[in-house]
Amino acid sequence: MDKHSSFAVSNPHKVPLDSLQKLGLWMGIIGVGILAFATFNFHSEPKSVFVLVSIALILVGSIVYGRQSYIKQVPGIKNNHVWFKTLSNRGVWGWLLGIILTLFYILIYWFPQYLGLGMNGEENTGLVVMFDSISMFFKGQPASQWFVYGTLYTLAILSLGIKFMYKYRHNRYQLIRTVVVIISQLFLAYLIPEILEGLNTETPYFAKDIKNMWPLNYYFFESWHLDNMVNGGTLGMFYLVVGIFMFLVFTPIITYFVGKRWYCSWVCGCGGLAETAGDPFRHLSSKKLSAWKLERWLIHSIMVFIFIVTIAVLYGYFTGSGEFFGLSIYTYFSKPYGFLIGAMFSGVIGVGFYPMLGSRVWCRFGCPLAGYMGIIQRFKSRFRITTNGGQCISCGNCSTYCEQGIDVRAYAQKGENIVRASCVGCGICSAVCPRGVLKLENGPEKGRINPTDVLLGNDVDLMDLVNQK
Ligand code: SF4
Ligand code: SF4
Repeated sequence: MDKHSSFAVSNPHKVPLDSLQKLGLWMGIIGVGILAFATFNFHSEPKSVFVLVSIALILVGSIVYGRQSYIKQVPGIKNNHVWFKTLSNRGVWGWLLGIILTLFYILIYWFPQYLGLGMNGEENTGLVVMFDSISMFFKGQPASQWFVYGTLYTLAILSLGIKFMYKYRHNRYQLIRTVVVIISQLFLAYLIPEILEGLNTETPYFAKDIKNMWPLNYYFFESWHLDNMVNGGTLGMFYLVVGIFMFLVFTPIITYFVGKRWYCSWVCGCGGLAETAGDPFRHLSSKKLSAWKLERWLIHSIMVFIFIVTIAVLYGYFTGSGEFFGLSIYTYFSKPYGFLIGAMFSGVIGVGFYPMLGSRVWCRFGCPLAGYMGIIQRFKSRFRITTNGGQCISCGNCSTYCEQGIDVRAYAQKGENIVRASCVGCGICSAVCPRGVLKLENGPEKGRINPTDVLLGNDVDLMDLVNQK
């Protein structure tokens, strides 16, 4: 049977779990189970203890399981049986996980009351009330669904990031990168914003802007946000200036020197989750040429969409009008973008569909910030993956595990540099290559044009062609 088949196949080489792996697995299951029961209002007192026990079980369980799964293996990255496990081959467990994640995102975004969020001044219940004590500790107020989400998101990156580090422990790039990913999420995306929110109750949204920038943070230029920054004293003006500086100056410069990997694979929360929790699904990304074409159309269309939305909201802000070319700015611009792209695509599809479409659906097809950095990376950056084609044995590991669906092998076979807008510089292709063919490097821009792009009629910078040796 074709390995890309959507039908599950049983694993003929199933390796039984040893007792420590079983222990780790059961700890994780019990930890998740406590939260799952709480969602249906099966609580035990004290809730603050139970939620901490649950978090500890998930964290320690994944460390025990991860360590035991990889520590005794000989050096090298093991993806054994990945096409035979129903969790990672679009089988029963994969579908089940996808459905649960998708449902969770739908509840978080549109029906938080079913997760226990107290509406109209009522007290929290269900899952949300479990996190009240932690939220009170950080910011002196009961939990919201977003606090629950942020806590679980950080827990997933932390626990599965440690598992990832055991798996890739022989690769220094992956170890350092994952430590940075975990620290970024834990401090920049979770602890600091939550604590700042407690200290700055008047303008809590500022805190959330620390790590994200426009256009990923699509509401940055919306009237209410601009108003609050402009009227938010020194802190507000600081966020306004830093937000614009990050997008216009900092990002292009850093992307020029090291490619978009500095953000997509080292700092970003979406990328952080994809790299850690999404690792078992990275091979599910489509490598078809049609997917590449769809990727370019979709991500650039969304960039145009957010650009138009931003022009419209800025027009509304400066003119005081609610309309742009006779159309309601909220109804026709901000709301559709927030619903379709900000919630449906980045959240529901971006994470809910990990077990079906791979871990980088949002980063590859949707994220306008990745699209913006991709253009810089493609045409004006020193980053490239160099290939030593003579050593390539065409095993295909690199292409299989590229989460961005890049057919790395095709470049390696020809000994061509890989300069692709979508490459997030995760380095997994290089890590899984048994022959050391691939190297992530920064060097002179000259000579980065791939002949295949010219032949396929893909867009190229003509001046680079002229300058090419
Ligand atoms: S080409 Fe390599 S470094 Fe780039 S996204 Fe794919 S696996 Fe990661
Ligand atoms: S993993 Fe290495 S040897 Fe295998 S196809 Fe890719 S570049 Fe060639």
